[in-house]
Formats: sequence, C-alpha cells, structure tokens
Amino acid sequence: MQRTPLIAANWKMNGSAALAEQMTATLAGLPLDKVSVVVCPPATLLARFSNKGGFALGGQTLSHESSGAYTGEISAELLQEAGASYVIVGHSERRTLNFESDALVAAKLTQAVAAGLTPILCVGESLQQRRQEKTQQVIAQQLDAVYASQPELLLKSVIAYEPIWAIGTGESATPQQAQATHAFIRQHLAQYDAQAAETVKLLYGGSVNADNCAALFQQADIDGALVGGASLKPAEFAQICLAVTKGAKE
Ligand code: PEP
Repeated sequence: MQRTPLIAANWKMNGSAALAEQMTATLAGLPLDKVSVVVCPPATLLARFSNKGGFALGGQTLSHESSGAYTGEISAELLQEAGASYVIVGHSERRTLNFESDALVAAKLTQAVAAGLTPILCVGESLQQRRQEKTQQVIAQQLDAVYASQPELLLKSVIAYEPIWAIGTGESATPQQAQATHAFIRQHLAQYDAQAAETVKLLYGGSVNADNCAALFQQADIDGALVGGASLKPAEFAQICLAVTKGAKE
C-alpha cells in the first residue's frame, strides 16, 4: 500500500514571526512533491506565514465547540480562516497538562472534521504503562474513544503514535518498537473499516531528528513523523522532510 508520507512540525509554545519566515524560505527551496508537510505553529503565528513554501499549516489544538462564550479557545473555523488545514488533537501535553479526557478529544476531533480540517490524533502510552505492558490496551482505548461511535472519521484522520516517554526526551522509540505499535494500530483500526485502516497515515512522534529518522521511515507502517524540538531548526526539519522521500518502501 503506497501512502504519501507526511511530516508535521509541532512548534508547541515556541517560535516567532522571524522563524515563520525562515521556515517558509527553507521549505520553499525543497522538492516537496513526494511528501506532504504541515507546520503547526502557535495559533497567533498562523497568519504570519506567507503562502509560498509549498506546505500546509495546522493548529495545535481546537475547541470542542464551534463558537460561543469560551474565553481563550479557538474554533476549527477560526483556525481555518487563519490558514490552517490540519489540527493536532489529543497531544499528550494537552491530555496531561490540560486534563483533556478521551471524550473531549473525541469531541474536538469531530469538530475538526466537520469544519474540513484534517485532525492529527495523538495516541501513546506513558513509561509506566509500557513497563506494565499496557501499551496496546492504552492505545486501543484512545482509538476506540474516537472511532468506535464514528468510524467514518477514520478516513479523514491522520494518527500519530507518540510514546510519552519519547517526547522531548531525546530517547526515541527504536524503529522496531515504533513499527510494532504502528502495526497494532493499523490492525486495531481494521475492525472499524479495513480499507480506511490501510490508507490512514500513521506518523511516529517522539525525539525524531535528522539522525534517527531514516531508520524509522524504513518501517512498513510508519508513514512520516510528528516532530517537536527538531522542527524549530528549519535546516534539520528540511532534512527530515527529504529523508522520508528517499528509499521508497515496498
Ligand atoms: C511532540 O511534541 O509532538 C514531539 C514529538 O516532540 P519531540 O520531537 O521534541 O519529542
């Protein structure tokens, strides 16, 4: 199954208008015809990107409501108006620091799809859960919370496997560990829609950098990456975008 790779940058609460310009200039010089690239900066910077780099923009979260008295929140439509076509949903930092439940994550993802945004749903286990051999159980629950009642959303989603112990730690999952979990995710999703499970893009996230990305991208079920720290360095991020187009699988 040939899936067009996707590389997504998660700037978190970092970056600047100057970095937006630098990233645009760097990516504009790359042949990006064989890879989709999306940059998710802080929402205030979305409109600071000129539309010239051959890449898409995304939000880092969104409201579960479409409008109203929700101070500080941003709706899917507002993100879209600011230039986003993707949005990260259920990042572990939001699940942990902002107490986002599986039910809230599901409501947010529903809002995103309804507004025409492509959600990047993040799932992943903590170190303790991995040690207790609960990785598959945790991920199945995170997936079921979204897709059990609305399997049709799968076709419109991207899923990022982000083991919490690998995010921002410098300790990436090994390609074998990541592949094993990606294969599990695809197999689990097949119960909802076998065809969608084959076409859905599965990104790996967690300390991806220019040095470790090629081995990850060689894995059959890894279709790209969600990149945090390394996405703040345009030259390194560019290397990751190019690496995924080399050595096509299958
Ligand atoms: C992330 O926050 O989504 C992430 C993968 O971060 P890092 O690449 O820095 O581990």
